[in-house]
Amino acid sequence: MKNDTICAIATGATNAGISIIRISGDEAFDIADRIFVAKKAGKKLKDRKSHTLTYGYIVYDNEVIDEVLVSVMKGPNSYTAEDTCEINCHGGYIVTKKVLECCLKAGARLAEPGEFTKRAFLNGRIDLSQAEAVIDLIHASNDAAIKNSVAQLSGKLKDRIVSLRDRILRDTAYIEAALDDPEHIDLTGFSDELKDHVDTEIAELKDLIAGFENGRIIQNGIRTVILGKPNAGKSTLLNALTGSHRAIVTDIPGTTRDILEEIVVVDGITLNIVDTAGIHDTDDVVEKIGVKKAVDEVDSADLCLFVADASRKLDEDDKNIIELLKDKKTLVLLNKSDLSPVLSAGELKAACGRDVISISAKDEMGINVFISEIKKLFGFGQIEKKEEIYISKLRHKELLDAAYASLNEVLKSIELGMSEDFFSIDLMNAYTSLGAIIGEEIEDDLADRIFKEFCMGK
Ligand code: GDP
Repeated sequence: MKNDTICAIATGATNAGISIIRISGDEAFDIADRIFVAKKAGKKLKDRKSHTLTYGYIVYDNEVIDEVLVSVMKGPNSYTAEDTCEINCHGGYIVTKKVLECCLKAGARLAEPGEFTKRAFLNGRIDLSQAEAVIDLIHASNDAAIKNSVAQLSGKLKDRIVSLRDRILRDTAYIEAALDDPEHIDLTGFSDELKDHVDTEIAELKDLIAGFENGRIIQNGIRTVILGKPNAGKSTLLNALTGSHRAIVTDIPGTTRDILEEIVVVDGITLNIVDTAGIHDTDDVVEKIGVKKAVDEVDSADLCLFVADASRKLDEDDKNIIELLKDKKTLVLLNKSDLSPVLSAGELKAACGRDVISISAKDEMGINVFISEIKKLFGFGQIEKKEEIYISKLRHKELLDAAYASLNEVLKSIELGMSEDFFSIDLMNAYTSLGAIIGEEIEDDLADRIFKEFCMGK
């Protein structure tokens, strides 16, 4: 049943100060009233004002289960847009579960994962892109991901999609009207006007699609590979970033034999760091395996950090790395800049044709500088200034790609001088693809799949 009353623990499954049990649906207040006794006798919860808290007890079979605060939020002004109660109880896991059991015995059904948000969507309070932003926000691992999800949650993506769809629909409607009533609506010269509109729409789609790489990276982390010849200071740099000592640091060249991965959140961004064996010519079989892996890792990296050693001259190893990285998004770090330099920043810049950032991994100097360079490289600035919204879901990208392809078909038809009914077929295809992003015209099983990604109680 769609509108039965559901309940779930909305907070984590662990002992805490407070837990919240959420009840939503037509009978939310009646169900809560069956198990709640106010400290100060008075109105039933269902007769209380919306957005108020009442202090009292959860009582079942004459037994007091917990002392609680219950909030009353009347639909449509609640998360689900339905009547909603939230019981704030003591946060022991056992007591929370007991309160939940009382709600179930009083007539509520246990909610499925994501069912509260699904209801917010089905009740029209949010669109599908906003619902998906809720998942992203819950899973956000860094500040930029939070900001991007909040922007999407506030409807920034939805607004852009709705605006595109409105314009596409207007043109389609005009063509259809003209085809129905050629005596009164003239299509002469309309294809030029349509071309202008479609050009603009295509440019907007291109922008959104181009943001996917940044969006994905912001949400999931930047896959980062640290490269440098043995003893350049890669492990020391990794340790400086992680603050832990998982990578082995030693003076014997070639000790970082295999590949370590660390997820580090630095200054609001997430780096998924792969620390590779030093790349250099070697006869050591173990190291050879490491070196091959390193080369493979470079291929799948979003970002490479080339660590050069200021205390040694550039050699063949450095040159091989420079060659390997020539087409990759790379930052060049001149490490050990605390020592008197044998290799200067100018020399290194000339050798690799890129700007060089001087650091000392050992003294943790210059780290902030290169982190802010990383932010620039991946467009974090625009997110921080709230100027951009980046899509981060493959589902969105594929639908935008489909809309883009359909609009390109419209341009082709215009160019070929095809009749107007051809335009409207492709325009409507674009309209439908865009609609699926915000949850219009989607199949039920797709909605189910999306909401299953949620956690319990959300
Ligand atoms: P890797 O082989 O590239 O991983 O190099 P390591 O991180 O193991 O460092 C090799 C040696 O260089 C160690 O003795 C480190 O303490 C030293 N080292 C690393 N970074 C610095 C630095 O910034 N300054 C100085 N003076 N020594 C460093």
